[in-house]
Amino acid sequence: MSKSQTETKSTQGMRRWVVKAGSNMVLSGGPLLLRTWMQQVAQLRREHNIEVIWVTSGAIASAADRVPSARVKKNRTLSEKQALSAIGQPMVMDLYNLALNATGLLGAQILLTYDDIADDQRRRNFQNTVEQLLAWDVTPVLNENDAVATEEIKFGDNDSLSARVAWVTRAERLLILTDVAGLYDSDPRKNPDAQRVTNLKRVTQELLDSTDKGSGSSRGTGGMYSKLSAAQLAAEHGVETWLVQGDVPSVLLQVANNADVGTRIDAMRRRSEK
Ligand code: GLU
Repeated sequence: MSKSQTETKSTQGMRRWVVKAGSNMVLSGGPLLLRTWMQQVAQLRREHNIEVIWVTSGAIASAADRVPSARVKKNRTLSEKQALSAIGQPMVMDLYNLALNATGLLGAQILLTYDDIADDQRRRNFQNTVEQLLAWDVTPVLNENDAVATEEIKFGDNDSLSARVAWVTRAERLLILTDVAGLYDSDPRKNPDAQRVTNLKRVTQELLDSTDKGSGSSRGTGGMYSKLSAAQLAAEHGVETWLVQGDVPSVLLQVANNADVGTRIDAMRRRSEK
């Protein structure tokens, strides 16, 4: 993608963030946590001039809780996951709409496959839709379009999706809300002296190689590999990433105030001016 193809404008004078919430957070936090998040989205806009594009997971997990024959099954087939996502996506969106409406905000759903970002025309359509929604003060809520995504056209995970969305919408920051407090210098489950990394200048290949690709990682943080890969991609495109624990009170506002929370991963180059 050339720079000109990704050129978009944020609403006048606004800063732009992409915030990604993982399945665990959405499922365990439920309506109450979502409401606190959406209250913060409203506050970010009102008090910090920050507009938010929200990326959420949780469709498949929400449906799996409700479909008895899918509940405990490991190694689901692609068509089972697709069907579960079709059941769970409206459930997740119901939660967001309730939370948004309680805060006086309006939400919009956008479901994407990898092709939608890779193809010039479709990416421009996506960018234009996002710009219009934000101009109307409507919060875009994105997820992968799992129901139609085959392995070839999958982002793979929403960390990757959110990094690409941050890139093509020319966001300033990517926040990944997860169930751990950030990146640690060793596994906090095994080492009581493990320290949180507050700032990472760069996601190196060495760091990625030492991080388990599976759900539990050598750094004690489930799914950290995909988060670091997403942060690396974001950094290459001038986006700063914050890995933060999603259920810490006022976590979004804390990040807006540059508080010492989670792990901040620097962008590798300055974005050109919008
Ligand atoms: N798109 C999936 C869902 O909503 C989640 C993918 C992920 O967790 O990264 O269930």
